[in-house]
Amino acid sequence: MTPAAAREAPRAERLQVLRQLLDAAHVSWRDDPALLRAKSVDYHWYSPILTELLADKCAELLVTPANVDELRTVAAACARLRLPVTLRGGGTGNYGQCTPMEGGVVIELLGLRSVQVHQGYATVQTGCLIEALETAARATGQEILMFPSTFSEASIGGFIAGGFGGIGSIRHGVLKDPGNVRRVQVMTLEEEPRLIELHGADIQKVHHAYGTNGVITELDVALAPAEDWRHVIALFPSYEAALRFGVAAMRPDLPLRLLTSVERHFAPYYPSYGALFPDTADAIFALCAAQALPAFEGLVAQHGGRISMAMTDAQVASAGLLPAYECAYNHTTLMALKRSKAHTYLQLAYPQPFDVDQALSLMAHYGPEILWHHEFSLAYGQYGVFAIPLLTYFDADRVREIQAEIEAAGVTVFDGHVVTIEDGGMKTIDTAQIDFKREADPHGLMNPGKTRGWRPEYAKL
Ligand SMILES: Cc1cc2nc3c(=O)[nH]c(=O)nc-3n(C[C@H](O)[C@H](O)[C@H](O)COP(=O)(O)OP(=O)(O)OC[C@H]3O[C@@H](n4cnc5c(N)ncnc54)[C@H](O)[C@@H]3O)c2cc1C
Repeated sequence: MTPAAAREAPRAERLQVLRQLLDAAHVSWRDDPALLRAKSVDYHWYSPILTELLADKCAELLVTPANVDELRTVAAACARLRLPVTLRGGGTGNYGQCTPMEGGVVIELLGLRSVQVHQGYATVQTGCLIEALETAARATGQEILMFPSTFSEASIGGFIAGGFGGIGSIRHGVLKDPGNVRRVQVMTLEEEPRLIELHGADIQKVHHAYGTNGVITELDVALAPAEDWRHVIALFPSYEAALRFGVAAMRPDLPLRLLTSVERHFAPYYPSYGALFPDTADAIFALCAAQALPAFEGLVAQHGGRISMAMTDAQVASAGLLPAYECAYNHTTLMALKRSKAHTYLQLAYPQPFDVDQALSLMAHYGPEILWHHEFSLAYGQYGVFAIPLLTYFDADRVREIQAEIEAAGVTVFDGHVVTIEDGGMKTIDTAQIDFKREADPHGLMNPGKTRGWRPEYAKL
């Protein structure tokens, strides 16, 4: 089928041609409805608004290339047949990022998973699970700079294309910070796919672009010397004391991989901690380097707190406890939703310098409607504070009302209840990303509906 014929042919006919092409090239595909449904969703069900919006969105074919050559075959065929393509790594995004708005083909990239560790960085294929990358780095005395708590399911390519930062950001900043990702290789979605290498600031063209402008195939990500991290819980008599401790602990001479303050109201969602995190105290959850524990403990004491847990990975596992980072970032929402479906979440960034009183006044204003935890982090060279609080869900209007009120109070809201890049975290259309889309996805086939910057008239016929 020529590209001209493909433009006219019904979708079902084009998909049938694709199946034949894939069979001829021995590339695996599946189209059983239950699997297609499962591979069309991510964790967007954190948001009742997105759950409703995306309920009927489903892929028509799942393709699972095992290597770059197979990926090239499917990319070329989809371009030629003008089929919509949605990329998928581990499918752990929160905003329906890998839900195909216009059906078509989902390409799952977990088959591209090789990793080579060098001194100071790793060269890794997109589908490598972040946990596997960390294991490979640790075998050489190094570690990855940051990861989401989903790291045993999430791919490194999905993290760069859909994520922001996470555990490790308190030390190394966010993914966008220079040097954290050193090189990205991208395959174009054209009749004859090309591989484009991006370095330095150009990497931002595909970072957090939701797979709308090319397929990330391989990356160089920075590594740091491995530390002996301890999972720490510190208990405080008030949330204010925990917050003030968090502010004081944001110091470059205190080696931390995680620093999160958590209100006591989360304790019921974490029963396995028992007396280590009771509902009578507010807490700091941290990963602290073993050699810095005395300094950490001293600072805790200065703020009226005490350490209730300081364990190695092995001790945490053998005690049947959750790692400290599962009481942080968006894992808290998951734990709450396991016990009650009445919740959703917000994503906030406070103005700098962080004002504890402003945070406390927002908490007082919303009372039990919002349960709070705060993430202390380094981003763009500055220490700052984010929050992903848990909201008791009433309806979409109430979510929007609260988000508007919080923005009016000067706190930035990254809306997690929308599907486009611009309406969520980015706020504005990134013209460099759109320009790159015109180059890497000239027919406008990739993850349609996820960027407001793309216009139908940009598509090359
Ligand atoms: C409990 C929980 C905690 C989380 N914590 C964090 C956190 O701390 N920080 C954070 O940033 N995120 C967090 N997330 C979101 C998500 O887990 C991470 O961003 C994760 O790294 C995404 O990886 P993935 O492989 O699952 O990506 P997917 O969900 O599969 O994909 C994400 C996006 O990237 C695109 N994509 C995938 N592969 C490619 C590729 N090769 N080329 C181009 N585009 C591609 C997809 O189309 C999609 O738009 C969390 C989510 C949950 C559910």
